[in-house]
Amino acid sequence: MSYPEQFQGFAINNPKDWATPKLTSYQPKNFGAHDVDIEVECCGICASELFALQNGWSHGEMACLSSKYGPKTQVVGHEVVGKVVAVGPEVKLCKVGDRVGLGAQASACMNCTRCNSNNEQYCAQAVSTYCDFYPDGYVSQGGYASHVRAHEHLCFPIPPELPSELVAPLQCGGLTVYSPIKRNIAGKKDPKVAVIGIGGLGHMAIMISKALGAEVYAFSRGYSKKDDAIKMGADHFVATGEKNWSENLGDTFDLILNCASSTTSLDLNALLPCLKVNCNFVSVGLPHIDEDLKVKPFSFFANGCNMGSSKLGSREEAIELMNLAVKHNFRPWVETIQVSEAGVSDGLTRLNDGDVKYRFTLTGFHQFFGT
Ligand code: NDP
Ligand code: ZN
Repeated sequence: MSYPEQFQGFAINNPKDWATPKLTSYQPKNFGAHDVDIEVECCGICASELFALQNGWSHGEMACLSSKYGPKTQVVGHEVVGKVVAVGPEVKLCKVGDRVGLGAQASACMNCTRCNSNNEQYCAQAVSTYCDFYPDGYVSQGGYASHVRAHEHLCFPIPPELPSELVAPLQCGGLTVYSPIKRNIAGKKDPKVAVIGIGGLGHMAIMISKALGAEVYAFSRGYSKKDDAIKMGADHFVATGEKNWSENLGDTFDLILNCASSTTSLDLNALLPCLKVNCNFVSVGLPHIDEDLKVKPFSFFANGCNMGSSKLGSREEAIELMNLAVKHNFRPWVETIQVSEAGVSDGLTRLNDGDVKYRFTLTGFHQFFGT
C-alpha cells in the first residue's frame, strides 16, 4: 500500500538507534477537514531532532511507544518544503500544486485567545510536527518522509525567489529566532543584539538581526567561527572561552538571544549585566532534560533585566520572515545531503558531532520516493 493510505519515512522505535533511521511505511493521521498533504521536496535537519530521537528531553519512554493508535515508530523532520497534493474540504489557505513550508508545529485549536492573537505556537492544544500527541492519541510523524500531513494554517506560502533547499531552514530554525528578535527590538532606536551559539539557529539569528537593523555581536565558545560570523553580517565577535570576555560589554544589549544547545558553557552571571535596563535574555536553546540554567538573583538586580524563552513563531511571522529574506537578500548557509538511509544517518551523526556549517538540508525526495 502507498500514498494516500500509507506514507513512507525514515523511522526509529528505540532511542539507541537514533543515528540509523530505517525506511518504513506507516499510517498517516486521520485526514481532517483543514488538513493538507504535502509531498516532500526537501527537509532541513534541526538539533531538536537529535534530542527527540535520543529521547533527551524526557525521562519517560519515547512518545511513539505510548501512542494509542497508528505507528509505533518515529519519523522526525520539521523544516519541510514541498508541494500540496491534497486538501481537506474546509481548506482555504492553499491549493493543490502550491509550494509550501511546514515548521515544527502541525496543528493548533485555531479558536483560543492565543490562536486569535498571532500566538498559535503557544496554543494549549498545539501539536508539534513530530513526536507529539494528537487528541486521539496518534503520535505525529514528521518530514523525513514521502509526505507529511498538517493543518492548513501551519503550511506557509513561499515566495518564488527563495530556492527550496535554502528556505527549508527558515521554517523552524529561522522562525524560532525571528520571533523573539522582532518582539524584543521592534521600535527601538539603534538596537544591539547578542547571539550566543553560532550553529543552525545562531547563524540565521545573525542575518535576521542585521536585516531588522540591529548591530550584532556573535558569541561563540572559541574563535573558529569568527570569519564566518563576520561574513554572515556580525559587527563584533566575542569568544566566551576567553578570560574577561565581558569586560567593556556592560549595559550594551537590547536582547541577548541564546541559541546554544547546551547550558554547560553559559555564564549567566557574566551575561546578564551586559543587558540594558529591563531588557531580556531569551533562550531558544533547549538542552538535554538534565541540564539547568544557573544564575544568582543579584545578577538581575543592577539593570532589572529579565530572563525567558521563546517557542517557534506564528504563521504571520513565518510569512514576514520569508519576505524579509527576499527583501534583504539573505539565505541560510546550507550543505545539502541526498536523502536515503545513509544520508539521514550521516546528517544526524555530523550534526551531533558539531560538524555542520551551518545547516543541513536533505534533498532529492522525489527521486528517492518516486513521487
Ligand atoms: P546546532 O547544533 O546547529 O547549534 C548549536 C550551537 O550551540 C553550536 O553551534 C555551538 O555554538 C553551541 N554549543 C554546542 N554544544 C555546546 C555546549 N556544550 N556548550 C555551549 N554551547 C554549545 O543546533 P540548532 O541551532 O539546530 O539548535 C539549537 C538549540 O535550539 C537546540 O537546543 C534546539 O533544540 C533548540 N531549538 C529550539 C526551538 C524553540 O522553539 N525554542 C526550535 C528549534 C530549535 P558555538 O560553537 O558557537 O559555541
Ligand atoms: Zn527545529
